[in-house]
Order: sequence, then structure tokens, then C-alpha cells
Amino acid sequence: MSSSSIRPDCRTHVAVVLGTRPELIKMGPVIQALQKSAARTTLINTGQHSDLLTPLFDLFQIHPDHDLAVMQAGQSLNQLGARLQERLDTVLATEQPDTVLVQGDTASALMGGLTAFNRHIPVGHVEAGLRSGIADNPFPEEMNRRLVGRLATWHYASTERNRQTLLAEGIDDSQIFVTGNPVIDALFQTRDHTRPGPAMQQVRERVGDHKIVLVTTHRRENQSATMRQHLRSLRQFVESRPDICVVFPVHPSPSVKDAAAAELADIDRIHLIDPMGYSDFVHLLSDAWMVVSDSGGIQEEATALGKPMLVLRANTERPEAVESGIARLAGDTQIDLTRLLSEAAADEAWFAHCQGGSPVFGDGTAARQITELVIHGRRLAAVA
Ligand code: UDP
Repeated sequence: MSSSSIRPDCRTHVAVVLGTRPELIKMGPVIQALQKSAARTTLINTGQHSDLLTPLFDLFQIHPDHDLAVMQAGQSLNQLGARLQERLDTVLATEQPDTVLVQGDTASALMGGLTAFNRHIPVGHVEAGLRSGIADNPFPEEMNRRLVGRLATWHYASTERNRQTLLAEGIDDSQIFVTGNPVIDALFQTRDHTRPGPAMQQVRERVGDHKIVLVTTHRRENQSATMRQHLRSLRQFVESRPDICVVFPVHPSPSVKDAAAAELADIDRIHLIDPMGYSDFVHLLSDAWMVVSDSGGIQEEATALGKPMLVLRANTERPEAVESGIARLAGDTQIDLTRLLSEAAADEAWFAHCQGGSPVFGDGTAARQITELVIHGRRLAAVA
């Protein structure tokens, strides 16, 4: 059945706007729950990460009703924003949804929210209230999420801290709901209901008995010299520990590929691999002994799974991961990372503490809670 089919008991028409890998991973369970509900659901893919999204649509068994194909080589953020706004406006004018849902902090989220607001369509924001507190770091994501926070009518916050942030910004309590983050729904669902594919099986063969340090890095603020320093520190660490290996799915961004090739190519026990499909990545994360990453979503996933994590950033907009005792900030200098890696690897108490993970980012029911709130404006009486 097409996701835009109208059911006989249809009441609400919900349009979901997304365009990047993390948005689809986080919204996949929400879209599934909406499609099982009485709502009519229209999925609008802006196409920011088109290659990475196709297998995810298959995994979640959802498919876009509109594909806006907004990416063009070398376009500025403003050109992207203008293209998004123009194409989204045409789709919203045709579809006339009752609500538009956006997630997080991307250009798709910002322009989805603004275009809906300009058409008097209420906006629901998933992962609301997340802040670094620094207007231009991460750039432009921090400003995007602040602006979506002003545009939205309904705020679906992952944590109590996110709710408090929104209250401090003047959002009325009645418009904020702490639901947890649906990334945890996606994580548990994928871990429990998929099997490792060929790419993951190949990784297991290459890794053998070594403990896996799972590495990802791609954020703009870490590119160039900083990223190369991080990678050099990792290489020194692996060279000093024969029981350990690094598995690094290299992000397709040219600067990440260049840095990985320059610093880590052909080094024993360092496995540079292509970006993994999400379900294989979840199995890799489950196998990992330690995680080293600058990703936002992976901080949430590692915390839920109880994987000791060094965050390749000087600060995090997810302090709950650090407060849970599972993540540690690894700063941005080579000295810090080399020292932290060695200290971390020797810290048995830390590994013991992390076992079992923390539910601070959600318990796996966020998608059902958000769906119920979108459709009925109220919470589930009880989540089965
Ligand atoms: N991820 C994936 N394959 C990979 C690396 C990451 O599917 O090779 C997933 C990961 O599980 C997480 C999401 O991509 O849910 C994180 O995306 P990314 O790091 O690009 O963005 P961020 O979370 O920093 O916004």
C-alpha cells in the first residue's frame, strides 16, 4: 500500500519532511507507526543524502511519495535553502497536510518548518530542545534547530533536559512532550529483527579475535588538521595495543576520505571500509568494544547499548551521554586523544559501569508516543 493511501477512518494528514541519513533512521519508526495508525501519511524526501537513503527506505519498508532531488554540486547553504523552500512549497500546496513533522537540525528540517509555517500548517519537531548553546557550533545545525524551535507548535523532546531548555526559551509547557528519541526505537528494532549482512560478515572475518574500536568522524568542525590529528592518535594507539583493531566506515565526504587515506591506509589492524548500511552498522556497534566518534546519533546509540565512547568533540549537545558515565569528551587536541585512549583502554571500572547501557535517550517507545500525540494531541494511556 502506498504511504499516501487514504484510509476509511482517516482523520489527520501528516507530512514528514526529511532528507539525510540520520533523519531517516530517526523518523523511520515514526513513519512506520503513522502508517499503522489512522493517519494519512505523506513522506517528502528532499534528497540531501540520496545514495545513503535508498537502502534505509527498504529496511524500514517505507517509500517516499515525493522526491525533491535538491542537491547540486557546489551549491551554497542559501542556494540549498532556496531550492528546498520552493520545491517544498509546491508539494505542500498540493498535499495540504494538517501537520508537518520535521526532525533535528538539517536544512530540510529548517525549510520544512518554515515552508509549513508560511502556509499556516502546524509543525511538529522531533528531537526538540537539543542545544550546544553556541550559535554557530555546530554550524549551521545549532541555528537550524533553534529556528525550528521558534517555528514549531509541537515539541517532541528526547530528554527532560531538552524540555527544560525549551521552557527556558519561553515555549509553553503544554506544547512540549518528553517522548525519548526514536533513534532508540530504530536501534532496538534493527538489532533484534535483522541479521548481519555480507558486509558485516566480512568485517567479522577481518577482525578475528581483536577487540573492535569503532571509529566514525565526519563533522565539519573536525575536518582538515583536527581530523588528521585524531587519526594519527588512533594509529599510535593501535600500534601500541596488539589486542585491538580499528574498524572505520569512512564517510563519503571527500575531506574524510582524503584524511583516512593519508593517515591510515595500509596499516595493520586498521580496517577502512565503506559506509555501512544501517542494520550492519547496528550489528557492528553491538560487537564493538569501544566507540570513538564525533557523530550525534552514535552518542545516543552507544549510550543505549552501553558501549564506552570517546566523543571527538570539545563539547556535546548531548551531555546526558557524559552524565550517564558512558561517553567521555575527547577534546580536540592530539595530546588529549592519545592520553584518553590509553587511559580509557585500561579503565576496567569504566567498562564495567557501561554494561547494560542507559535509557536516558529513550526506552524504544518514542515513535508510538509521537504518533499518538500527533494524531490525538494526547499521550498514550499506557504503552504496551
Ligand atoms: N550510521 C550508519 N552507517 C555508518 C555510520 C553511521 O548507518 O557507516 C548511522 C548511525 O547508526 C547513526 C547515524 O548513521 O544512527 C549517524 O549519522 P551521522 O553520523 O551521519 O550524523 P549525526 O548523527 O552526527 O547527525
